[in-house]
Amino acid sequence: MSDNKNGGKNFLHSVTLDLDKCKGCINCIKRCPTEAIRVRDGKASIISELCIDCGQCIRVCQNKAKKANYDDFSVLNNYEYTVALPPPSLYAQFNNIEDQKIVLDALKAVGFDDVFEVAVAAEIITAATERYLIRNKGRLKYPVISTACPVVPRLISVRYPDLLDNLLPLITPVELAGKMARIRASEKTGLPPEKIGCIFLTPCPAKVSAIHSPIGTEYKHVDAAIAINEVYPLLLKEMKKLGAEMPERQQLAGSVGLGWGIIGGESTSLKSTDKHLAADGIDNVIMVLEDLENHRYGLEFVELNACSGGCVGGVLQVENPYIARAKVNKMKSNIKENDEPLDDDYVKLMWDKELNYNPAMELGDTMQESFERFTRLQNLIESLPGLDCGSCGAPTCAAFAEDVVKGNSEIMDCVVLLRRETEEMYKRMESSFDSVGLANRFEE
Ligand code: SF4
Ligand code: SF4
Ligand code: SF4
Repeated sequence: MSDNKNGGKNFLHSVTLDLDKCKGCINCIKRCPTEAIRVRDGKASIISELCIDCGQCIRVCQNKAKKANYDDFSVLNNYEYTVALPPPSLYAQFNNIEDQKIVLDALKAVGFDDVFEVAVAAEIITAATERYLIRNKGRLKYPVISTACPVVPRLISVRYPDLLDNLLPLITPVELAGKMARIRASEKTGLPPEKIGCIFLTPCPAKVSAIHSPIGTEYKHVDAAIAINEVYPLLLKEMKKLGAEMPERQQLAGSVGLGWGIIGGESTSLKSTDKHLAADGIDNVIMVLEDLENHRYGLEFVELNACSGGCVGGVLQVENPYIARAKVNKMKSNIKENDEPLDDDYVKLMWDKELNYNPAMELGDTMQESFERFTRLQNLIESLPGLDCGSCGAPTCAAFAEDVVKGNSEIMDCVVLLRRETEEMYKRMESSFDSVGLANRFEE
């Protein structure tokens, strides 16, 4: 994990760069939604204040130079008692399962002492969201935007500060699952909470970062995160051994909780409103946020997932996201909706800490400095070629101009301008040689 300042506090990023593998090919710079990557001296670097751990650069780097950091399986040894927190999207990584029971038992077989489904917590958050929308009807800034995918609130805090008040101020299902699992394990074992390890099985780097720097709360309810693609082969092996004989399990998540693993699962489970929208994939998320800055479209709730298809499309998953989505839908049809979630008092699930605007995109530290730099920036953008070719190492000419006014680049780092300047200089030299009659002498 890389430790950096983000939004005025220490922020741990899961996404990092392996400099030895980076070939400086600039493939990644144009795909980063916050323009957080630069390539200088033949190597990429990530501007940590801008990175939202969306994982796009991991997907597009064919040299595998971008990677997600997460915990090793040996993290289980740090605790006297461990509880696995599987997300609903985990179940869709496996073939031919009717419900999640065998996966939960396999988690115990690979070494966890107990399991607490994140989908159970998701059902509680669904009920809490419903209460929040009903009890505050007409008083909210609409549409309310889901905060379950951590990329979305981070993106809003960096690029769309006008939408900060639209965010649903409830802790995420992962945090709630960690909180409930720890209480339950402590009651069951008599161990103090710090001896219990609540370990999330993560589909993406964004959730790794979010457990280390939770959004909207000071409390960390989850201790560690292991990637799904790391635990998958171990689970598969145990599932083959377990076969069909399954002990009866209590407190399984129902179809609503499982639905959270795919796009639309959260919003369509809300019964109090049909004025909702769901969008997946980072480009679509950005398109929706751009539109929401100016219009409400009569919407009351918006669910946005950075990955295509929802969490089944996370960069640390194994299965094709479209197939995984079909599997979730099949499982949902086999499983009933739980009548009553365990708890639905939304007030105690509300954020205890605001998410503030992250001024990483500001041009200066003061209004005065920002204003002066803005004027320079406009002039500079007009003087640049406007090709957005990326050969300066910045994703666009405008991003390059910002780097120049912030003092992070030199104007002649623009290779197109440099070439033009060199050609002009050559022409000027030629004409001055002509004027003194030297040109022919050089040719002789
Ligand atoms: S895609 Fe980016 S990180 Fe990967 S090799 Fe190219 S410049 Fe380096
Ligand atoms: S993880 Fe996302 S925001 Fe961070 S550098 Fe990569 S593409 Fe950009
Ligand atoms: S959609 Fe899910 S898997 Fe993808 S970044 Fe968001 S939380 Fe992670």
